[in-house]
Amino acid sequence: MSVLKYAPEALKNLFKPPVTTKYPFEPAVYPEGARGHIEIDIDDCIGCGMCVRSCPCGTLSVDKMAGTWSIDRFDCIACGYCVEKCPKKCLHMIEGYQTPGVKEGAVTYTKSPEQLEKDRIAREEQAKKAAAAKAAAAAKAAEAKAAAAPSGIEQAAAKKL
Ligand code: SF4
Ligand code: SF4
Repeated sequence: MSVLKYAPEALKNLFKPPVTTKYPFEPAVYPEGARGHIEIDIDDCIGCGMCVRSCPCGTLSVDKMAGTWSIDRFDCIACGYCVEKCPKKCLHMIEGYQTPGVKEGAVTYTKSPEQLEKDRIAREEQAKKAAAAKAAAAAKAAEAKAAAAPSGIEQAAAKKL
């Protein structure tokens, strides 16, 4: 095989910029559509658990009352299902990879104190509304029962017959 066969290509490459980058001395360039890692806008999370149920690796967990969301990045395969399923669109596939770590285990994100307080107030209001609706329904049912029951006069007339 002749070396001359490759000479034109070799000559062309002499005048082209290198295809490699100088990472880590220059920022890494990720190709379009590259899957990086999952991030969350934790204050927007409603703790519905859709992401947890859709994750094929079982790497997510959420605690609605505590306002926390956790991910074990060692188990995540960056499939993006959780991002697709999140009804609040608070999960994002971010370009770039995580800094390498030496410790296994989940990373937990916690809502800000302000958001936790807002959530607590919203829960209390919801509970009050539910209790009021229940009381109103009970009162309406009692009213209907009373209206359906025969009066004292009607009962006496019925006895005479
Ligand atoms: S990207 Fe896929 S594997 Fe990773 S947490 Fe989301 S659903 Fe699970
Ligand atoms: S699907 Fe979205 S809103 Fe629901 S728990 Fe997961 S991150 Fe939170």
